[in-house]
Amino acid sequence: MRSITLHKGNVYSGYLILVNRQHGLKQTQAHHSPALVPSLANYDTILLERRVAASLTQLLKKVESRGRIIPVSGYRSKAEQEKLYQDSLIENGRSFTEQYVAYPGCSEHQTGLAIDLGENLDEIDFIRPSFPYTGIFAHFRELAADYGFIERYSHGKEQITGISHEPWHFRYVGYPHARIMQHHRFCLEEYIQYLSDFSENGQQYIFKDKGKNYEVYYVRAMEETTVIEIPDECLYQISGNNVDGFIVTIWSNPL
Ligand SMILES: [Zn+2]
Repeated sequence: MRSITLHKGNVYSGYLILVNRQHGLKQTQAHHSPALVPSLANYDTILLERRVAASLTQLLKKVESRGRIIPVSGYRSKAEQEKLYQDSLIENGRSFTEQYVAYPGCSEHQTGLAIDLGENLDEIDFIRPSFPYTGIFAHFRELAADYGFIERYSHGKEQITGISHEPWHFRYVGYPHARIMQHHRFCLEEYIQYLSDFSENGQQYIFKDKGKNYEVYYVRAMEETTVIEIPDECLYQISGNNVDGFIVTIWSNPL
């Protein structure tokens, strides 16, 4: 076994962090900006976390986008989110803004893990770009989970996410989590809640996909440091949930 020691601050980073009005970005994250790179070649001003950008590039290549799907908005600093929010209040009013623009400090765009995508039209609505459910856009949605992306604000989940249906906003959570969420039709709030029932020593969540097994479980963060035991010689990933603990994912061999 390998012992992995985590600190309280680690709760607030990783690909599975839940960021919403109840769970804003913590101060520690503000000082540790994600490693940002251009979201796509030729889009140098629209940035994403490194792995997210690589996955998006692969996915767009797979669906043969050839410029038909373009990034509209990626990483935003807190100041940029603040300006967007204030500008939208003036231009669109409070009701629209609260439905479609996350409160500053509570936006997934501040994590570098979220991207607004749009159909490549002459005029693009920056807050609500067109991203249909047909043609190449449907193809993109079919394959998105395999590349770690979920449509974050789905129809029917508005009461839980607090954000209106946004067909254009995709969030990277990584594989296999995007596939598990798709399988159960969970939004991220529901998924994080669901995983809290699975623990290191109790029942673990087992997911089988494409001949591989994945074990997923939750570990509550201790006051100072949390130690997680990982079996030798297996691939694993640990992410904070931005709430109260960690999600451990283990790539195990088929039984
Ligand atoms: Zn967005």
